[in-house]
Amino acid sequence: MCILVFMNRIEELRALHERNHKLCTCELKKTATQPVFGDGNPDADIVFIGEAPGKNEDLQGIPFVGAAGKFLAEMLAAIKLKRGDIYITNTVKYRPPDNRDPQPNEAEECFGWLTEELAFIQPKLIVFLGRHAMHRYFPEAKISEVHGKLLKRNITGMPTEYFYALYHPAAALYNGSMREVLMDDFKKIPAILKKIN
Ligand code: URA
Repeated sequence: MCILVFMNRIEELRALHERNHKLCTCELKKTATQPVFGDGNPDADIVFIGEAPGKNEDLQGIPFVGAAGKFLAEMLAAIKLKRGDIYITNTVKYRPPDNRDPQPNEAEECFGWLTEELAFIQPKLIVFLGRHAMHRYFPEAKISEVHGKLLKRNITGMPTEYFYALYHPAAALYNGSMREVLMDDFKKIPAILKKIN
């Protein structure tokens, strides 16, 4: 019975993505190989939001499967979580050409899609991977000041008021001190979840 309900949730989420992909008018759709839908547990307590798919994600159609994804999996393992325990998505669902940053209008085009996805999952905590994802909801915040701190904000249409910003794993990958800060911030996630539960 429980497995059936879980399967239905997965199918419903897939349908949500397919519908948004069809409707999305984002220019990036023209150059991307395929859309990169969010991935993971549709009933997750934690949703991670990255910036945009890169080359590997574009080829495989799955978020965070490249070097940054491997590092993310390492950090999840450090807090005894697997990818299947969480849900991970991006602000835009199509790879920007040459890995450039998504333009504000591109992020805007995909924003309704992201909002629907979050409303479906109803996470308790939303974790931003990098400043681009954070700026969608906290445009005034500086990641160097707010990383590793629990943020609280009531945002219309959002399923939770709890947010947590981290440096992007790709930025921290080859920067020893940022990598250490990111790992330390990441290790605080279980205590934060406990606190807001
Ligand atoms: N970086 C992101 O922000 N998202 C991905 O899916 C991969 C790398």
